[in-house]
Amino acid sequence: MNYPPLPEHQIVTDDHKAAFFTRRLLMSLILLLSGVILLAMLLLVGIAWRQNEDAVQQQRFLLSNIWKDKRQSILTDIRDYAFWSEAWNHLHLQVDTVWAFDQQNFGPGLFQEYHYEGIFVVDGQGRTRYSVINGKLDTLPLESWLGIHAAPLIRKARSLAAAEGATTQNVIIGTTPALVAAAAITPGKVPGTGTLPGPPSVMVFVSRFTPEKLKQLGNAVGVKNVRVPTTTQDAFVAPFMVEEVAEDAPIIIRWDPRQPGRNLLICLLPALFFAAFVLGLIARRVINHAMSSAVLADRRFAQLKHSERELAASEARFRDVAETASDWIWETNPQGVITYLSRRFTSVTGFEISRMLGRSVDDILLHETEAVSLWIFQQRADGQRRQLRCYSYSAQNEKRICSLVANPVLLKGQIAGYRGTVSDITQEVEAEARLHYLSQHDTLTGLPNRVYMLEFLRGKLHAQPTAERPLVLISLDLDRFKPVNDAFGYAAGDSVLVEASHRLRGALNAGDLVSRTGGDEFMLLVCDLTNEEEIDHCCVRLQSELCRPFYIGQQELFIGVSMGIALAPVDAMQADELLRLADIALYKSKREGRNCWTWYRPDMAEQLIHRRELERNLRMAIVNDELKLYYQPRYCLQKSRMEGAEALIRWAHPPTGLIMPDSFIPLAEETGLIIDVSNWVLLRACTDALAWPNMMYVSVNISPVEFRSGNLAKRVADALHKSGLAPSRLELEITENITLENPQNALTMMQALKKLGVRLTVDDFGAGYASLNYLKTFPFDGMKMDRSYLHDFPQSRQAVSIVEGIIALGKAFSLTVTAEGIETQAQWEELKAISCQEGQGYYLGRPMPLESFLPLLNTPLLLESHHVEH
Ligand code: C2E
Ligand code: MG
Ligand code: MG
Repeated sequence: MNYPPLPEHQIVTDDHKAAFFTRRLLMSLILLLSGVILLAMLLLVGIAWRQNEDAVQQQRFLLSNIWKDKRQSILTDIRDYAFWSEAWNHLHLQVDTVWAFDQQNFGPGLFQEYHYEGIFVVDGQGRTRYSVINGKLDTLPLESWLGIHAAPLIRKARSLAAAEGATTQNVIIGTTPALVAAAAITPGKVPGTGTLPGPPSVMVFVSRFTPEKLKQLGNAVGVKNVRVPTTTQDAFVAPFMVEEVAEDAPIIIRWDPRQPGRNLLICLLPALFFAAFVLGLIARRVINHAMSSAVLADRRFAQLKHSERELAASEARFRDVAETASDWIWETNPQGVITYLSRRFTSVTGFEISRMLGRSVDDILLHETEAVSLWIFQQRADGQRRQLRCYSYSAQNEKRICSLVANPVLLKGQIAGYRGTVSDITQEVEAEARLHYLSQHDTLTGLPNRVYMLEFLRGKLHAQPTAERPLVLISLDLDRFKPVNDAFGYAAGDSVLVEASHRLRGALNAGDLVSRTGGDEFMLLVCDLTNEEEIDHCCVRLQSELCRPFYIGQQELFIGVSMGIALAPVDAMQADELLRLADIALYKSKREGRNCWTWYRPDMAEQLIHRRELERNLRMAIVNDELKLYYQPRYCLQKSRMEGAEALIRWAHPPTGLIMPDSFIPLAEETGLIIDVSNWVLLRACTDALAWPNMMYVSVNISPVEFRSGNLAKRVADALHKSGLAPSRLELEITENITLENPQNALTMMQALKKLGVRLTVDDFGAGYASLNYLKTFPFDGMKMDRSYLHDFPQSRQAVSIVEGIIALGKAFSLTVTAEGIETQAQWEELKAISCQEGQGYYLGRPMPLESFLPLLNTPLLLESHHVEH
């Protein structure tokens, strides 16, 4: 089996024991085996060496014996001749060459038969008297042939004469060793032989050991290549034999030894090496096998340990999870009888585990429609995680909602039981329900919100309302609710909203829907109203409910209500569409002056679309530089001199042509675009006026909307700063209505503007609803009398006196009075006569583009000359 390799860090030394010990054991075995083989080799070599030694020893002994034999035989031979009376006679007394040599008594025969190369007779005076060398008669003296001093030898021979003894000596002739024997010639035991005065002659035999002779000698005893060493090196190579007698020259003999040991080695050593080699191979295989088995065993052991650790960790993990998880774990047998519950069960349900073991799972977990056990039995081990929402009762008899997960436990393919978890999801379910409620209801009033309302509406539309029994959708918006919030705070605003929602709810039937869709916006869905009259009646009821005073503490508050009505199926059948149409109708109510209701009419949508388009175009107009400023001169009536000009905006809309401010300023105000428009006007006007002579001023109209936005002073300051115009040359025209809405705010704003150094004028004075009181409170510099006052002026006496009154009022408050809308010479002259300071009107000059206006600046007032608006 293949085990996957273990990670390095998990392999501890302990896990390598088998491999370690096996390696050691095998190493010892190898060492032992190698030792045995080495010993065997050594023994073999030892035996071989011994055998060789023995052979050498034996050969040496043989050779030594030969030498001894030779010595013995030369002694015997010489004694035979020396102690022979014939020799005495023929050689001592006189040298008888004929007897000796020719008759072969003592001549070549000794050479041929006995192989004595040298035969000599030396007389009593030491002279060589007879020489036969290599079987030939010669005259060479003994010493010259031998190359040694022969006297000691001769002397010794003579000393032995009495005892008929002879002597031998080893000599080396040239390089050839030789055996020399000497014996004194005596008459022997033969009586009557004569004597000769002086010492006896001495007979000498020389046997030379020539290489051939040596070889033959060796061969005779089975010793090969017996020789005298030819070089000093050869002399000291074993084996050799030294023949040394007393003072004789030592003779070294060499031979080729018999080497039985060598043969033994040649035979056995290769076999031994081969055996060692084979053993090595076998050992290698055995080692490899043993090692891999050991490593495998170690691996298995480590794996086992690893698995054990894993198992322990996994068990610990399971225990931790089982004890710390919010879920509890259960196990049943195949019949659904509980066999195990994790400890968490007790803390979640309050029941003792022991009480529950052995009971059916259906005793603990319940389901509205089916037995939980049946659901569990249906579960398959297919890796799918299915959950069952069921419930159980705690020990305190509290109903808990549970989420059950179950899996079959398989043992050899058979279901051995079931196992799973149960999570208490009561809180989640409750939170979910709460979230669901919140997602569909308004938290403040508890009324359904827009989401719920839309769903409800869709449901109702699904039921197909008819023209006879229409579905009435009322979009409702509280009037003047914002000031309540501003003045009394959000808490007060909230209580008004809650109260308003109660009143609305009370004014409708139970089957109707009241929903809050925005801040002070509500959407009502009213059923069962059959005709217009009933619907109007319902609206009256709603209006009268909301027009009743609201109370914040002791404070009595009045708000109104605007409504828009759309009907299904008459106006639309889609929920979104109906909502949109009701909103359009509501919008109309708001524009119509509030506190009323409007039925949706198809042309309203068209108007709205038109407005939308206009709004989009206006946005583009600012970017595309389609806005223009016209200037209408303002004259000092008394001096008939131009003092300044009013900047009046125009929109040069490419397809439509020049659009007048009345057609787009209200739209700009509603959409908030007025800020961008006004910024453009301020900067343009200031920049243009910079070029005007005589410190002439420019007046710019400011919308009430800009007063609400808060940063007017900064914007004006920016325009002055950017253009570089002196603040005193800028006048801001403001309608008196701004003093009504939020007087405190208006005052603060005006003070900030005055600080900048600009002039402030009341525009269209007398056209609004403000009481004259504000003239006292607000820091105005001038007033522009609304042109309506000049209608009958100066024809009507009454009109003249009213204008006189206004002029007097202006003077009383130190305000410069400007008459707007002077269209005739008569008006001009009369106003001059009653001391009106300034005038403006078509008669004096129409609003005109800058290029037409500039030429007028330095020309005196020539009436009739520029009455036409360009
Ligand atoms: P306004 O401030 O009262 O401006 C005077 C209006 O009276 C101008 O109308 C002008 O053309 C007109 N007018 C002047 N003399 C005579 C006359 O002798 N007879 C008659 N019948 N009318 C005369 P216009 O230019 O159509 O402006 C209308 C209004 O639009 C202005 O009334 C002003 O409230 C507003 N407006 C104009 N330009 C701007 C602007 O830049 N910003 C803001 N917020 N409003 C502007
Ligand atoms: Mg004006
Ligand atoms: Mg005006």
